[in-house]
Amino acid sequence: MKDIRYIDGVSSITLNEETCIGCGMCLQVCPHAVFILVAKKARIDDRDGCMECGACAMNCPVDAVRVNPGVGCASLIIKRWLKGKNMPADSCCC
Ligand code: SF4
Ligand code: SF4
Repeated sequence: MKDIRYIDGVSSITLNEETCIGCGMCLQVCPHAVFILVAKKARIDDRDGCMECGACAMNCPVDAVRVNPGVGCASLIIKRWLKGKNMPADSCCC
């Protein structure tokens, strides 16, 4: 998705292509089409499209994707404003 962007150059997303088994789950759940599948391995195709919702990391069966949802997830940031900085990263609604 090229029309809705977060901030360029700040996404914390990482992908371990060695660990990836090519299931395609990250492609299915990512709302911004950040990943593509190349030769049965996921690849980050649009890093700056990532808004750090955490859906890919949460759904990867082999833990090949890591992302810090506390950096870019607006829901989590707002919850931390309202309820305190100790809200865990997985308490957002993403
Ligand atoms: S964190 Fe969300 S937006 Fe970023 S790559 Fe994963 S699913 Fe896509
Ligand atoms: S969800 Fe994980 S294992 Fe599946 S394609 Fe994406 S990175 Fe690879």
